[in-house]
Amino acid sequence: MALVYQGTTISPGLGMGRARVVESLRLEPPAERPRDPEEELRRFRRCYAASEEELRQTVQEAQKKLGGHEAEILDAQLTLLQDEYSVLEPIQEAIRDGGLNMAQAIDQVLGGIVELFQQAEDEYMRLRAGDAKDVRKRLLMRALGITPRDYSALPEGTVLVAEELTPSDTIRMDLAHVSGIVTSRGGYYSHVGIISRNLGIPSVCGVPRAAEDGDTVLVDGESGVVTVHPDEAGLARFSQRRREAEAERRRLDIFRSAPSRALDGTAGLICGNIGTAAEAQAALDAGAEGIGLLRSEFLYMDQPALPDEETQFQAYRQVLETMAGRPVIIRTLDVGGDKAIPALPMEREENPFLGCRAIRLCLERRELFRVQLRALLRAGAYGDLRIMFPMISSLEELRSAKAMLEEAAEELIREGVPVRKVPVGIMVEVPGAAVMADCLAREADFFSIGTNDLIQYTMAAERGNPSVEHLYSPYAPAVLRLIAMAARAAESAGILCGMCGEAAADPELLPVFWGMGLRELSMSPGGIARSRAALSGWSTEDCRALAERVLLCASREEVQAALQEAHRRRKTRL
Ligand code: PEP
Ligand code: MG
Repeated sequence: MALVYQGTTISPGLGMGRARVVESLRLEPPAERPRDPEEELRRFRRCYAASEEELRQTVQEAQKKLGGHEAEILDAQLTLLQDEYSVLEPIQEAIRDGGLNMAQAIDQVLGGIVELFQQAEDEYMRLRAGDAKDVRKRLLMRALGITPRDYSALPEGTVLVAEELTPSDTIRMDLAHVSGIVTSRGGYYSHVGIISRNLGIPSVCGVPRAAEDGDTVLVDGESGVVTVHPDEAGLARFSQRRREAEAERRRLDIFRSAPSRALDGTAGLICGNIGTAAEAQAALDAGAEGIGLLRSEFLYMDQPALPDEETQFQAYRQVLETMAGRPVIIRTLDVGGDKAIPALPMEREENPFLGCRAIRLCLERRELFRVQLRALLRAGAYGDLRIMFPMISSLEELRSAKAMLEEAAEELIREGVPVRKVPVGIMVEVPGAAVMADCLAREADFFSIGTNDLIQYTMAAERGNPSVEHLYSPYAPAVLRLIAMAARAAESAGILCGMCGEAAADPELLPVFWGMGLRELSMSPGGIARSRAALSGWSTEDCRALAERVLLCASREEVQAALQEAHRRRKTRL
């Protein structure tokens, strides 16, 4: 009989195949105390040296095989393992003075670090508990003489079933043949979540060990449902859905490399939003004609210290070089409010979304901003860089930010560093900026509309708060009117107006935005081909008429009805 489990999707898509259970190893230290602590110390040092060497090699392997993020995680583990003060010395002390055997000592010291991390208030510290667990496991396995099971040659169509998958597990696996992953632990931002999305493997977490080796498993990464032993009808339905999804994928594939054009040939750009430098390649592969938003926060978020100029320069340069001359909009730091950075203690605020966030914070912490601006200007030599300031709500802010950019450029020139002129734009995501768009357009080189925030500030409905979800919508006429104001002001001033909020990827709204004059839409790479396909079916004239019609609507229902009608008519005409 079919067994059905509801989990949480962490990577979309439909996967099916035979289960391969990744056993969680039992790593129990033996109870006996060593007779000769000095000999035990020597054994530990050999075990430690071998583990360190193994991890060093794994980091190198990860750099080649999986790219930046995984290599960074493993590198952080290597740093932890090499920490004399909190790892190496305490373990040796526990063997030498405490009389423990090496497995007990490893378990005690690293177990303590895991606990410490788990209890931390700071999210970054809590995430590090996973690294400490992985280091503990690595050392314990060697101390206990356990060799991990070999997952390096998995057959085509394997569904991995595990309690948890750590970076060192996945690096040893042949993920090319994995068609689905089901874990009991993990989450969207867990290692398994990140890696499965990167590799396009449908994955669901939150399902207790569901299957045995060889069981047929269906992984629905759209709904989070995992089915073990599906009956024939269930299997046939799932297979049919997979065929349809595959056909759709193939249909859209053509649009990955096609130019972004409306039916009448008017051209624009469909670009990718990315959150790390390593994602630029994936955006390019998905058909991005540029990067419409690089959220530079990634350099600051999970780091114990602020990134220095060189680190930032290298990351920006990597993106620009990957994009090989295509436009790259890098947004300056947007933290504060609800997004904290561990290296920068901030005051608690009653209303963080209305607080010292983004450009406000940068204009206050001038040194922090200066370092980022210098790194950006230096990177500008490596491609078509455009700098964008987030959360601009007044002309004064734009002027102050531009003045700081100018100072950073002069500083670099004095130091003999060549600096190119870089277009400087703003995010229009505060209603005040949309209202003042005509004035801002005279001093900004481009606009990019951030609907995620623009909706929340326009409707006074916090993004992500389910109790005001009914208000939080890009279909709200107030939001659409503000977008139109910004687009019109940009057009009159002769500057480009784009959009990088989530609404940019909505195929229903796409003709409205195009009709308003937006010519650059930037989105998660997964939506690029679909949006380009949608654009190719609309003429600019029809889009203009639709935008005009929608801007007369008084309610969200009216907007939705107008869109439905327009989409239906277009389909019947095709
Ligand atoms: C936005 O507000 O639409 C946006 C793209 O910025 P973020 O989601 O990073 O706040
Ligand atoms: Mg925003």
